[in-house]
Amino acid sequence: MERHAIYPGSFDPITNGHVDVIERAAQMFDRVTIVIAVNSRKTPLFDQAERMEMATKALAHLPTVEVAVHSGLVVDYANDHHASVIIRGLRAVSDFEYEFQIALMNRKLQPSVSTIFLMPHERYTYLNSSIIRELARYEQDLSDFVPSCVAAALRNKFQ
Ligand code: ADP
Repeated sequence: MERHAIYPGSFDPITNGHVDVIERAAQMFDRVTIVIAVNSRKTPLFDQAERMEMATKALAHLPTVEVAVHSGLVVDYANDHHASVIIRGLRAVSDFEYEFQIALMNRKLQPSVSTIFLMPHERYTYLNSSIIRELARYEQDLSDFVPSCVAAALRNKFQ
């Protein structure tokens, strides 16, 4: 039986913290799918096609990793695609409460799907997509924080 994990999130845009988590997950599972989810509470900077293109380029070095877009419940995607694991990243204690709530709700909705938390390298623990969007607005150098294709896309957005 193939071990298939999904990594859902907004990825608006994908950062080196996400890539670090995905590289760790790729070592643990036969197949990993990045699921770019629509989040009704967020207005994204990049549309789904742009987020998908950036993630696909940033993960091209990982042959067992693919990128998909999904607008429904994450557990439904997992079920439909025979994924038994949801990956989430944990940066700090502040992530925990929110992540714990989602993980328990997902388990209630779909008991056969488990959530696994992975910690990125500590150099990425203070990184999130909204800080990146803010820095890009002020034309900061983002090369330590995001893949080069993302840095280029951000420059285009704000120039
Ligand atoms: P959300 O839409 O829930 O905020 P994101 O798209 O920002 O999620 O990220 C998806 C997942 O990646 C979440 O589990 C989040 O905690 C995690 N994540 C975000 N940034 C990082 C990072 N720098 N290092 C590790 N995990 C991260």
